[in-house]
Amino acid sequence: MNLIGMDLHIHSALSPCASLEMTPPEVFKRAREVGLQALVIADHNSAENQKAFIECAKEMNFLYLPGMEVQSKEDVHILCIFNTLEQVLSLQELVYSQLPELENNKELFGQQAIVDSRGEIIGELERMLLTATNISVDDIVGAVKQLGGLALPAHIDRPSFSLWFHLGFIPEYLGFIGVEMSPRLPRNQEQMRFIKEHNLGIVVSSDAHWLNQLLGPQTWACVEDFTVEELSLAIQGKEGRYLKYGKGLVEET
Ligand SMILES: [Zn+2]
Ligand SMILES: [Zn+2]
Repeated sequence: MNLIGMDLHIHSALSPCASLEMTPPEVFKRAREVGLQALVIADHNSAENQKAFIECAKEMNFLYLPGMEVQSKEDVHILCIFNTLEQVLSLQELVYSQLPELENNKELFGQQAIVDSRGEIIGELERMLLTATNISVDDIVGAVKQLGGLALPAHIDRPSFSLWFHLGFIPEYLGFIGVEMSPRLPRNQEQMRFIKEHNLGIVVSSDAHWLNQLLGPQTWACVEDFTVEELSLAIQGKEGRYLKYGKGLVEET
């Protein structure tokens, strides 16, 4: 087994709210500097930069899985993680079919840059990504599962776009094995109790939109390798796999 320092939620230059410096070589370079070994890029409602990140990760010998942060019709963010480019592109196809056909307002939201593995901007996505899809949380989770991916409710400790904020609990029927939390917010005791009682694993990730928001590892996974299957076992603490955290991050559990 290996103890892997990871960050499962980072945005690339494709996310309008993220900096154009978030290109594959720059992100991996910075990630290495801060001691990360494994990453997931999860852009809002799109996977246009995943090919570039997968290629660059290979070149730079970095553990990497493609992801997406899907905004449900209830305005809840779901972090979706996959093993392969094909899987994440299948989700993109579904998401694009249920994303309102609006044009991005560059001045208001920022540029949506498509990059290659060397970090060159090779295009720009015109359709607006920063909006809700017409897919329910239920259906996002179902689609991700069917594709062989892992879905987690994103930043449930934040007031905006979080499942917890919308409902005040995590419905069991959705079948989540864990939740994602932010590194710096004070822990809500009621939420921590709920997570413990329901045996949900916790992943702490940066949700970085800028290079300087890339923190060192907040969560380590003790796993055989960096795959959806191994991560899922670690989140559930099964078969000798487990998660470990930076000091004070989930102390209440
Ligand atoms: Zn989010
Ligand atoms: Zn995000």
